[in-house]
Amino acid sequence: MANQEENLKNIIAHAKEYGFVFPSSEIYDGLSAAYDYGPLGSELKNNIKQYWWKAMVQMNENIVGIDASIFMHPTTWKASGHTDAFNDPLIDNKDSKKRYRADVLVEEWVAKIEAKIDKEVTKAAKRFADSFDETQFRATNPRVLANQEKIDAANNRFKTAMEADDLDGVRQLIIDLDIADPVSGSRNWTDVRQFNLMFSTEMGAMADGASTIYLRPETAQGIFVNFLNVQKTARMKIPFGIAQIGKAFRNEIIARQFIFRMREFEQMEMQFFVRPGEEMKWYEYWKEARLKWHLTLGISEDKYKFHDHLKMAHYANAAADIEYNFPFGFKELEGIHSRTDFDLKQHEEYSGKKLQYFDPEINENYVPYVIETSLGLDRMFLAIISDAIRNEVLKDGSSRVVMAIPNFLAPYKAAIMPLTKKDGSPEKAREILNTLKMDFNCQYDEKDSIGKRYRRQDAIGTPISITIDHESLDDNTVTIRDRDTMEQERVSIDNLHSIITDKLRLK
Ligand code: ATP
Repeated sequence: MANQEENLKNIIAHAKEYGFVFPSSEIYDGLSAAYDYGPLGSELKNNIKQYWWKAMVQMNENIVGIDASIFMHPTTWKASGHTDAFNDPLIDNKDSKKRYRADVLVEEWVAKIEAKIDKEVTKAAKRFADSFDETQFRATNPRVLANQEKIDAANNRFKTAMEADDLDGVRQLIIDLDIADPVSGSRNWTDVRQFNLMFSTEMGAMADGASTIYLRPETAQGIFVNFLNVQKTARMKIPFGIAQIGKAFRNEIIARQFIFRMREFEQMEMQFFVRPGEEMKWYEYWKEARLKWHLTLGISEDKYKFHDHLKMAHYANAAADIEYNFPFGFKELEGIHSRTDFDLKQHEEYSGKKLQYFDPEINENYVPYVIETSLGLDRMFLAIISDAIRNEVLKDGSSRVVMAIPNFLAPYKAAIMPLTKKDGSPEKAREILNTLKMDFNCQYDEKDSIGKRYRRQDAIGTPISITIDHESLDDNTVTIRDRDTMEQERVSIDNLHSIITDKLRLK
């Protein structure tokens, strides 16, 4: 725990020191759960967006993109259920005065018991070595079974209570599970209350005609209300998808953990419209496709896992999260939901307009079913930087901090450095910069010793450093240094473009 906290602190400090992420309005001591992306952070964030957009929209013939407005007609949120049901169950600890989400307290309790089971499995795996059969062990070991039973019972009680809107039942569960305030250890809890997460504001002049509107809490509804506009103008045939990247706003009750949970954040969502009855096939398809996308980033596979939902949102008939092992443990990175025809049907009802598709293959009109993939851009950013930042001890005993960001996402692709500030080196370096900068974001750096400059580029994740020295002027060669291996090589200036292109290729 202490280690995890330390680790997260280091990531936050690194992100700030090098201009990736700043607290919002920091000169006024910051605004809780709001962050600003600095010069390098905005580059990285844009690169992630571009990569998602390319993979989702440009590489799929049957997916197109939109960019809908943040403000939407207020009836949208009535129809979607957000006005009435976009609530979190809240509970306060009377002693510590800290506020928690009741569902999160239960989830954390479950995670603790799961950890106990995992420990039991690891121990047994060691003891039985090669003959160990994990599936059988989990199905038969009495201690594992007893713990699993506890988990299932707690999950079921929670699900039943939430579905019946039985907030006293939720409180009683917290008491029966003997859950203590993680900060103070106290078990002195208030009642559970529902709290709506949408931010509201007024549109129009104050007096008459002003109406309450909301900052969208998800980008998805902008896609649903445009279903027919897009289907008709882009001449889409089912199955097809509509993708969007944009801001969403939620008045999160507990907003800790840096950019993991913010009140203003960005989503990269895709709604995939399918024939009714085919949604499970497509749900499985998108679960797999999305995990594959994550794995192309080169982060190790064991940092991801699926978590199937027990407590489904009101609109879903199947839902899973792709969880990522963040510095504070496995948590939701992306949601894949089978949303049925709930949203389109609701919008039909509230707007009085038909939102249907005529399927020429089966000669039928229907309201399509929807599979949603919803990825938090900021969480993706955090996953990438927390995996990338490494403290390395080198062979000579010295150490360096390196940010091993996937090369194609790195803010700068190359650093261009004249060894000295004289003898024509800077001019030659700028000449090289000019030939590269149209295609690659490069940084020119002539300040400090070359060793210091290398360290600086390591710390911001620049895959290649290019050093220009007096020989460069004579023989048209430079030294390139690799961020990860720190190996140096003398290459011809004419080859730089193709060397960098190679480096940025997806593995
Ligand atoms: P959580 O359970 O963590 O609150 P959620 O299930 O409410 O998340 P969704 O409504 O499924 O999240 O939103 C889709 C994605 O949007 C999430 O997987 C996450 O990556 C991102 N996201 C949601 N809320 C936030 C937030 N407050 N800050 C940053 N990203 C968020």
